[in-house]
Amino acid sequence: MHYIEHNLNDTHKRIIDAARQFGRNPTNIKLIAISKKHSIDSINQAIRAGQNQFGENYLQAALEKINKINDSEIKWHFIGQIQSNKTRDIAENFAWVQSVDRLKIAQRLSQQRPTHLPPLNILLQVNISHEPQKAGIDLSDIEPLLDEVSGLANIRCRGLMAIGAKESDFTKQRAWFRPLKEKFDQLKQHRPALDTLSMGMSGDLEAAIAEGATMVRIGTDIFGHRQG
Ligand SMILES: *Cc1c(COP(=O)(O)O)cnc(C)c1O
Repeated sequence: MHYIEHNLNDTHKRIIDAARQFGRNPTNIKLIAISKKHSIDSINQAIRAGQNQFGENYLQAALEKINKINDSEIKWHFIGQIQSNKTRDIAENFAWVQSVDRLKIAQRLSQQRPTHLPPLNILLQVNISHEPQKAGIDLSDIEPLLDEVSGLANIRCRGLMAIGAKESDFTKQRAWFRPLKEKFDQLKQHRPALDTLSMGMSGDLEAAIAEGATMVRIGTDIFGHRQG
């Protein structure tokens, strides 16, 4: 068995184990394979092993991969910082954008989404660790932005995305995720379209599932360490 297939199996097993431990249904947790800085060969290995959703954060590299792989069954998630002059390429080539953090970007994505494609799924990126160098809006800014983007025609806001704090202790990892989960539950009460809470990476997958993640983004533990 190729190591990527092996790693994917292990990751699925971790998701199922964590779901079982914390009373979650594993079918409600989607795995996005984060393939940034990994080769087309590696992505093809993952596709052969059954993975069909991938995340990328360097636009030029991502476009090259998307075009070469050229498979409409594969869903691509953009997870990187978005410059406003790059929104057209993102709107035309991705199924999801997880890193929306301002109205102007959402407006451009909506305007530039080709109408023959389904609406672009977006998540609002929230900075939960209060590290100033990290992207994302504050918890208190979610609701106003959510209301502003909800009127845009060609995007669907599905929920929230966050990167955990640099933290190796499981209890502390959970504590960083918890306020976002509480906010998400509160927002969902009046906004049934919100169904996605994207949190959890290689180092904090279990803590994120314990706190209600419906989507996890795993790079290193599937593809190995990134070059460069
Ligand atoms: C790189 C990256 C990941 C994957 O991180 P790993 O620790 O390699 O699993 C997930 N989410 C975002 C936003 C990333 O940039």
